Amino acid sequence: MGQVVILGGGTAGTIAANRLRRRLDRDEWHITVVDADDEHLYQPGLLMVPFGEYQRPDLVRPRHRYLASGVRLVRGQVELVKPADNLVRLAGGELLHYTYLVIATGTTPRPDQTPGLLGPQWGDTAHEFYTLDGAERLAGALQRFGGGRVVIDVVDMPIKCPVAPLEFAFLLDAHLRRRGLRGRTELTYATPLPGAFTRPVASQLLGSMLTDRNIIVEPDFMAEQVTGDGIVSYDGRRLGYDLLVTVPLNMGADYVADSGLGDELNHVPVDRHTLQAAGYENIFALGDANDVPTSKAGSVAHVEAELFADALAARLHGRPAEADFDGHANCFVECGDGRALLLDFNYDTEPLPGSYPVPGLGPFRLLRPTRLNHWGKHAFRWMYWHALLPDRPLPLPARMSKAGKHVPQEVAS
Ligand SMILES: Cc1cc2nc3c(=O)[nH]c(=O)nc-3n(C[C@H](O)[C@H](O)[C@H](O)COP(=O)(O)OP(=O)(O)OC[C@H]3O[C@@H](n4cnc5c(N)ncnc54)[C@H](O)[C@@H]3O)c2cc1C
Repeated sequence: MGQVVILGGGTAGTIAANRLRRRLDRDEWHITVVDADDEHLYQPGLLMVPFGEYQRPDLVRPRHRYLASGVRLVRGQVELVKPADNLVRLAGGELLHYTYLVIATGTTPRPDQTPGLLGPQWGDTAHEFYTLDGAERLAGALQRFGGGRVVIDVVDMPIKCPVAPLEFAFLLDAHLRRRGLRGRTELTYATPLPGAFTRPVASQLLGSMLTDRNIIVEPDFMAEQVTGDGIVSYDGRRLGYDLLVTVPLNMGADYVADSGLGDELNHVPVDRHTLQAAGYENIFALGDANDVPTSKAGSVAHVEAELFADALAARLHGRPAEADFDGHANCFVECGDGRALLLDFNYDTEPLPGSYPVPGLGPFRLLRPTRLNHWGKHAFRWMYWHALLPDRPLPLPARMSKAGKHVPQEVAS
């Protein structure tokens, strides 16, 4: 009997397990998912928690309920992978043997990696919203906030959902205006990037949206140290704050490094089209856990999991894989005041204006804030639980299409 062992039952692990269960014969293949807990968190919803729009019960559901029958869930902390023996060791010593191993343990915020960040100000005047506990504490801090200097800081790249801190800035600006506090608040967006986003057209648009909202942009800001009332960059710039909202360094799981499978941030180097771990025939890494040069996003985890499962099933049935991963990422960006824009891009094509998913028709608009995009983002939570995780057919293309997109004149020239 063959064993597919999937480490991590988040977005990528769940979709890959469910699709593989449909594609592989139950008499020939066991499928096991390992996760540290039984609480599946809808992470995109964390953005709304500080503003009181979502609460914990809106975002957390039992993990086992979203795994197809015939997929075994093992609860345990992965401690080590021994590729030479095809073994995984869990905390407590349990060993799992695999024929194929899928690493889908994501990436997590690590505030411990920035000197001073976890000082007495942590959870008081310094916050993050990338965990549920952190987002809830930030909700309390925003309720108490009466104006002052707010710094939103991205410590380093890559982070999961690289647009989330920008969305947070737009939503905070709108929230403070609603509460009559914007005039008394200085808002700064500090980023290690030279601009608001990684790719030129989107960066230009998102950057001008920040300045239009009177949000000061501090580019090339690499945070070296945090004190009780300031954040200091490697080149000596200091940003004073009354409230700090940080996106800490994001790192893959420690066992990845301990097993000799990771880069300096514990992300697994893979072939960017097949997602096969460098140097290992039977190990693959999906979603945030790998090092492919596209956004770390749920949409990416979804497409990767589908394509990987199809390719592995084809290989095991002696057929060639139908499609390789092209880096396709698709992200709604909340802009505040009930509007959002949409980004669609891949390894080779940057986010461009146009319509999605049907070229020329939409209904969603790319790189243009609309109400429909905003409702699309909110509707996605329902889609996530009811269609995406159970791997039901969705009218969303796995590969990016260039149809109906164009490079704006001012950028092309
Ligand atoms: C604030 C925020 C907003 C976001 N917004 C969006 C958005 O709008 N659109 C979008 O597409 N994406 C968004 N994302 C990103 C998206 O949530 C992630 O990219 C996606 O969840 C990645 O899926 P994954 O399966 O790779 O990892 P995860 O879903 O994080 O799953 C990893 C799993 O591994 C488990 N695990 C980790 N280490 C171990 C271990 N050692 N042993 C056992 N189990 C372990 C964890 O418990 C977890 O269940 C957002 C993320 C955040 C934080």
